[in-house]
Amino acid sequence: MNWALIGASNIAREFVIGAIRDNGGTVSWVMSSNAERARAYADANGIEKATTDLDALLADPAVDAVYISTTNELHRDQAIAAAKAGKHVLCEKPLALSLGDAHAMVAAGRAAGVVFATNHHLRNAGAHRAMRQAIKDGLIGRPLAARVFHAVYLPESLQGWRITNPSAGGGVVLDIAVHDADTLRFVLDDEPEAVAAITQGGGMASAGLADAVMTTVRFRSGLIAQTHDAFTAKFAGTGFEVHGTEGSLIARDVMTQRPIGEVVLRTAEGERSLDFDRTGLYVTALAAFHAAIAGEGRPAADGEDGIRSLAFGLAVLAAAETGRTVPVETGL
Ligand code: NDP
Repeated sequence: MNWALIGASNIAREFVIGAIRDNGGTVSWVMSSNAERARAYADANGIEKATTDLDALLADPAVDAVYISTTNELHRDQAIAAAKAGKHVLCEKPLALSLGDAHAMVAAGRAAGVVFATNHHLRNAGAHRAMRQAIKDGLIGRPLAARVFHAVYLPESLQGWRITNPSAGGGVVLDIAVHDADTLRFVLDDEPEAVAAITQGGGMASAGLADAVMTTVRFRSGLIAQTHDAFTAKFAGTGFEVHGTEGSLIARDVMTQRPIGEVVLRTAEGERSLDFDRTGLYVTALAAFHAAIAGEGRPAADGEDGIRSLAFGLAVLAAAETGRTVPVETGL
């Protein structure tokens, strides 16, 4: 599998290039808006070709798939162009800044017959898969509530467009809350129906962007959830809990990019830790993507999953702005 990177990003450098290579793939191109940065990034990461020209990269018949990790306002046009060129697309979240754009991207992938995936990494974590399975096995009875602790400290190296640029889709909601939505949907096998939210400007973000948010969610099953996302919490730690009629799942350090953390099942019989697979989250994502291209199964999170998490994020923003409970409308 031969890949081209659209975007000379931190996430590609830190996780995705390695995950492609761990799955036997090669990365042959990187595209940046800046020729010097493209060349430096290519050299630093063992990538042969560097360009600022999307069409040149997409015209290369040797490229099977593209990974789009530019800032969020650029995803739409790049994904549609890639799909039209017949390339499989792995796109970063949020897919786009509006639901209409996200639908157009997924439709372009479908029309071209390519695999289209959203890079929601957390559903690939062994911890979340173990929780999903425990719920399916009835170990906590009927799930009634969930709590997500995803308040972290944004490293200084990433304190750029995320905290200054609304038109690039900055702010904590489109950056982190969309991941909560996807993880909750995956673990609970349920769909969010409505949200209420309050955002905070805690001193890190500017230009009216929120750097923290607390959200309450009602799911289709009647389950209620609360989430706390932040760029500003230096010492909070992360976690994910599901509380059912017969037990609770209590996970710590699992809202992260690495396969770490622990999951405890607490019932009338006491407490026990659940074992889970510790394969890298992005490695699992890329394995599923390659398999989907080979006609085996679907990507870990597909375009529809990306539409659903974006719809959640947009509903959270609308709820915070209006002070009302807002339905999560996906258009699906
Ligand atoms: P980066 O800030 O590292 O990269 C985004 C863009 O910023 C790049 O495409 C690049 O533009 C530009 N850029 C990067 N470094 C520099 C620099 N030194 N000077 C000037 N411009 C620079 O973003 P992230 O990697 O954090 O995020 C990229 C995308 O991935 C976003 O959509 C984000 O939401 C998503 N993401 C997803 C994660 C996940 O786990 N699923 C985790 C982190 C991010 P150019 O390409 O033109 O050079």
